[in-house]
Amino acid sequence: MRPPAVVAPDGINGEYVAVPEDAVPRLRRSAGTAGIATTAEMSHGEHVAAVRAGEIGSMHSWELVTAVDGPGTRMTVFLAGCPLRCLYCHNPDTLRMRDGEPVAVDELLRRVRRYLPVFRATGGGLTVSGGEPLMQPAFLGRLLRGAKEMGVHTTVDTSGFLGTHASDALLDDVDLVLLDVKSGLPQTYLRTTGRELAPTLDFSRRLAARGTPMWIRFVAVPGLTDAPDNVAAVADHVASLATVERVEVLPFHQMGRDKWERLDLPYELGETPAPEPADVERIRAQFRDRGLTVF
Ligand code: SF4
Repeated sequence: MRPPAVVAPDGINGEYVAVPEDAVPRLRRSAGTAGIATTAEMSHGEHVAAVRAGEIGSMHSWELVTAVDGPGTRMTVFLAGCPLRCLYCHNPDTLRMRDGEPVAVDELLRRVRRYLPVFRATGGGLTVSGGEPLMQPAFLGRLLRGAKEMGVHTTVDTSGFLGTHASDALLDDVDLVLLDVKSGLPQTYLRTTGRELAPTLDFSRRLAARGTPMWIRFVAVPGLTDAPDNVAAVADHVASLATVERVEVLPFHQMGRDKWERLDLPYELGETPAPEPADVERIRAQFRDRGLTVF
């Protein structure tokens, strides 16, 4: 019998339960901050000091996932706050740090410890995502260090825009970076994210030079990022990075649209369709043609 390969948070207690792999091929269920105590009882001064020290971070939610966010079954933690404003962001509720819940790093690591058997059985681990995890480098550094002390595989999901916030010591505790390269042409990157492309390219070169494995993510948005010259610019750059293990081309979808509306934020892509399968295949082929492994 094929063993269960997927685990899911079981209600607000966050216990995990095994479910058949073929029943839920790609599972993503958020547990919010359930099961992780927040720090509401601290004085303001204590709170500020603890945030500066990285003992407390601002967290949006966490979830247990399989087949996304890195190898195996993973606890993915979404930190709050992001300097980018991607037009297609499907988590606009993570953009402001002040909207997150204050969480002690020790509490979060206690939760990580509970899943050690799952991580060992599946080759999984901890993924820190967002928002942008490098908005909170002190907290991220402590979280990664604590995970590594438990022998947990660590992944950071980042745009790379704040790559200079990552010290070498922090990167020593990162086994894999999921690097979101949102465009290859500077003007398209600016239009897509509201920010400059160069810091992401610089960070990716730094990661390659120090030997950090990367999985690259590129979101194909019709009329925004899917132009052949924009994709070619991403693919040329990515092909120059020796430690890239794979490229994931993710077709744009409208699943985040409700959140933009609920938050009363202007959403520019309301009329943008999902890309045609032939266009997604053309984009994947542009990466593949440069010798990259593409999903
Ligand atoms: S980097 Fe991620 S979280 Fe930040 S705006 Fe872009 S898609 Fe949203």
